[in-house]
Amino acid sequence: MSKLIIDDLDLKGKKVLMRVDFNVPIKDGVVGDDNRIVAALPSIEWVIDHGGKAILFSHLGRIKSEDDKPGLSLRPVAEKLSQLLGKPVTFVPVNEGPQLEEAIDNMKDGQVLLAENTRYQDVIDGKQVNRESKNDPSLGEYWASLGDVFVNDAFGTAHRSHASNVGIATAMEKAGKPVAAGFLLEKEIKFLGNAVDNPKHPFIAILGGAKVSDKIGVIDHLLDKADKIIIGGGMTYTFYAAKGIGVGNSLVEKDKIDVAKEILKKGGDKIVLPVDSVCADQFSNDAKTEVVDGSIPEGMMALDIGPKSIQLFEDVLKDAKTVVWNGPMGVFEMPKFAEGTLAIGRFLGTLKDATTIVGGGDSTAAVKQLGVADQLTHISTGGGASLEYLEGKTLPGIACVSNKD
Ligand code: ADP
Ligand code: MG
Repeated sequence: MSKLIIDDLDLKGKKVLMRVDFNVPIKDGVVGDDNRIVAALPSIEWVIDHGGKAILFSHLGRIKSEDDKPGLSLRPVAEKLSQLLGKPVTFVPVNEGPQLEEAIDNMKDGQVLLAENTRYQDVIDGKQVNRESKNDPSLGEYWASLGDVFVNDAFGTAHRSHASNVGIATAMEKAGKPVAAGFLLEKEIKFLGNAVDNPKHPFIAILGGAKVSDKIGVIDHLLDKADKIIIGGGMTYTFYAAKGIGVGNSLVEKDKIDVAKEILKKGGDKIVLPVDSVCADQFSNDAKTEVVDGSIPEGMMALDIGPKSIQLFEDVLKDAKTVVWNGPMGVFEMPKFAEGTLAIGRFLGTLKDATTIVGGGDSTAAVKQLGVADQLTHISTGGGASLEYLEGKTLPGIACVSNKD
């Protein structure tokens, strides 16, 4: 990989602008799941330990009116970050103007400052102007003027072109200042990038989740790269419909049956579909269920893969050297239909010498909830960003990082 990384830079005495992903759940002024903050610590600590001044920017939620602002302040995040770092974090309740500039001027080497939610810039004097979200160049230029180097460590926003990532980066490069990736961004590029562009074979993709329509880009891109593509979850039944297999009341996207036919034709025997399903009489954990081979009976809906499918998938996966998994195998949110996802997760954890990678918002939630995340090689921190990466798209938040020469 030829991107400049934070540890390539001399940070001593430098004002280090850093875009992190602190888009965390906050309830009644308290941070809930702090995973994203924890994931940003290595880069922040690196700056502190190397005598830089860490000036942090992040968005939080969506700001559509002035009323949204108080509940989406980053102040609680500053408190949480301070606890995690074990040192004070200066929170500045604005992200533009003299108060911020003075606070930065007063920083000593090794100190940390967090500016207010970058999306406060989306609404100014009650008007929705989207300076942050639409990447107003004047905002990126202003933020860039506050520092000596810029580190992008926000993978979760890397598929978006915002003032706080692409805007700052563009202005820094124009001013001849370096733009580097943080350790989190580096790790995501390493795992997702290598898996897709330079995988060890056999390379098997497991694609599930609700809809074919969300995953067409991923299937298309991975069909050329993977040795096998395992299909599970709700999108199975659009493929069943394409093959003329009965679907009962299962989730089927009628307008995607032709697309599914094309994928089956192009993919040939690369595509592996479930051979049995856990069928239910209603979409509920209290449903009456039965395991059915092939065709789904009238009046029933398929909500998980069955035991024969688990066996089949394990056979396909057993020699894999690279596995990319996006999309749960069933409605894992209900314990009755979580077995397929759990079994595949557990099996991936037993694979020797395989790199196993999970991307996607619900998939990540599933492996964490089911307790199998620790046994896998890499759980991506970006839902939408990881999907776009798997589709082979260029992510603006990665493209804007300087190349190493
Ligand atoms: P990701 O966010 O990881 O990309 P998706 O959003 O595509 O994943 O899919 C996740 C959703 O798919 C889950 O909410 C899950 O309940 C649903 N799902 C999985 N299998 C089925 C099924 N057989 N029928 C209906 N929904 C399903
Ligand atoms: Mg999802």
